[in-house]
Amino acid sequence: MRARTVNGREIDLPQHVFDGWKARLRGPVLAPGDVGYEESRTVWNGMIDRRPAMVARCVGIADAIECVRFAREHDLLLCIKGGGHNIAGLAVADGALMLDMSLMRGVWVDANRRVARAQAGCVLGDLDRETQLHGLATVLGFISLTGVAGLTLGGGIGYLTRRWGWTADNVVGMDIVTSDAALVRASGDENADLFWGLRGGGGNFGVVTGIEYVLHRVGPEIVGGAVAWPASEASAVLDLYATLAEQAPPELTLVALMRPAPPAPWLPKERHGTPIVTLLACHTGNPDEGEKAVAPIKSFGKPIGDVLIRRTYVQMQSLLDATQPKGRRYYWKSEYLPRIEPALSDQVVEHAARIRSPHSAIALFQMGGALNDLGPDHSPVGNRDARYLLTITGSWERPDDDQANIDWVRGAWSDMKRFSTGGTYINFLTEDDGAERMEAALGGSLRELSRIKARWDPQNFFRTNRNIQPA
Ligand SMILES: Cc1cc2nc3c(=O)[nH]c(=O)nc-3n(C[C@H](O)[C@H](O)[C@H](O)COP(=O)(O)OP(=O)(O)OC[C@H]3O[C@@H](n4cnc5c(N)ncnc54)[C@H](O)[C@@H]3O)c2cc1C
Repeated sequence: MRARTVNGREIDLPQHVFDGWKARLRGPVLAPGDVGYEESRTVWNGMIDRRPAMVARCVGIADAIECVRFAREHDLLLCIKGGGHNIAGLAVADGALMLDMSLMRGVWVDANRRVARAQAGCVLGDLDRETQLHGLATVLGFISLTGVAGLTLGGGIGYLTRRWGWTADNVVGMDIVTSDAALVRASGDENADLFWGLRGGGGNFGVVTGIEYVLHRVGPEIVGGAVAWPASEASAVLDLYATLAEQAPPELTLVALMRPAPPAPWLPKERHGTPIVTLLACHTGNPDEGEKAVAPIKSFGKPIGDVLIRRTYVQMQSLLDATQPKGRRYYWKSEYLPRIEPALSDQVVEHAARIRSPHSAIALFQMGGALNDLGPDHSPVGNRDARYLLTITGSWERPDDDQANIDWVRGAWSDMKRFSTGGTYINFLTEDDGAERMEAALGGSLRELSRIKARWDPQNFFRTNRNIQPA
């Protein structure tokens, strides 16, 4: 079997060596041509087309340890797939031994201690569904099919960020298999340096097998959903967004979105494909307060659709799932913003009018709140000055349309990046984002992360990520 070493050299792995390793695992091992290999090797972004030499579908920590040991013994390149949602396709590498964690989706909730433990293959919806049985939740993202591991290791933003910070701020411990195939616990009082690095430094330090999150009282009933208007109303709606967002309590998160109307049942058929502006709102406090807080949105102008209602938190967490299917082609740029300026809103409207595909969008996510309250060194994610996140998300179907859509994203980004804090989100970086964008994402944390890398992975064995070189 042909495989790649950590340094990119091609080698032949003898069949008996491969078979011997396979026999030591409890989970299935897949090689090219095996049923399930294609499903495992493909990721959310259809632009990524890489072929690992072999895939180990781990069913427990012992499998992960066996994989790291085997890769070290034979100098194999190793990559790790959580939910496979990373836009740059960091989960998969050509010729590598790929650990596919998606069979490890257990969640255990200790409602008394308000802690949940999730295995590393969980997607966000797995965790939300189990914690919501107890009226509890932790900070997770906006699409329920995203992997908890990748999201948490890069920071994590969602509707609860304004109340409790980054997802990474809500982690109390992680279990990790390190580069010497040892199982290590990282928490505030065990291997504290590693714990700090893991809360934003990506998968640089090992294979995370389980994550423990602190839980908060949320829902199950909240007030949330969306209201849409034709794009001709965009300037006024974005003004409303800026005004309401500045006054919003931490319980309320607002998102403004401009795109062609998707074929959603709550939007009139004749509007599908036509440009619209949408405000998404999620109020996770008392529902009576929530209804009052969103009333100015519901009564604004003449909406063409309104599904901003009392609903369950779990429903809210998957409201946008259908807009982001696996396998389409995607290219994004994003920037943190300190405020919404009228000149920025004008640019959003202008560039939204030039969208090249029915699936692309420009969005403004409200952040701030608790995120701004913690010190810059609390975790490597940093960017504690972020009040909004601008995302320009190209999404289309045919390879022939790659250039036109990428050009649209890059054009909009180059006009709007002057409004940025200078920071960007590591989890949204695309394949072509280099060292300069890493600096924008992790800035002041990079030097300390390099030192931690030198302690825990001195030979840079875990390198198929947003890589941090050992100091
Ligand atoms: C549609 C969509 C919506 C999104 N929405 C949000 C959002 O609302 N909020 C937000 O914060 N982010 C969001 N993201 C970004 C998301 O956080 C990142 O894409 C993240 O990398 C996804 O994690 P994953 O496990 O699915 O990714 P993968 O592609 O599987 O992995 C990403 C990186 O993490 C590493 N990794 C994964 N599992 C492990 C592990 N067990 N141990 C060590 N390393 C591991 C991988 O090796 C890789 O380097 C979104 C992404 C998409 C595509």
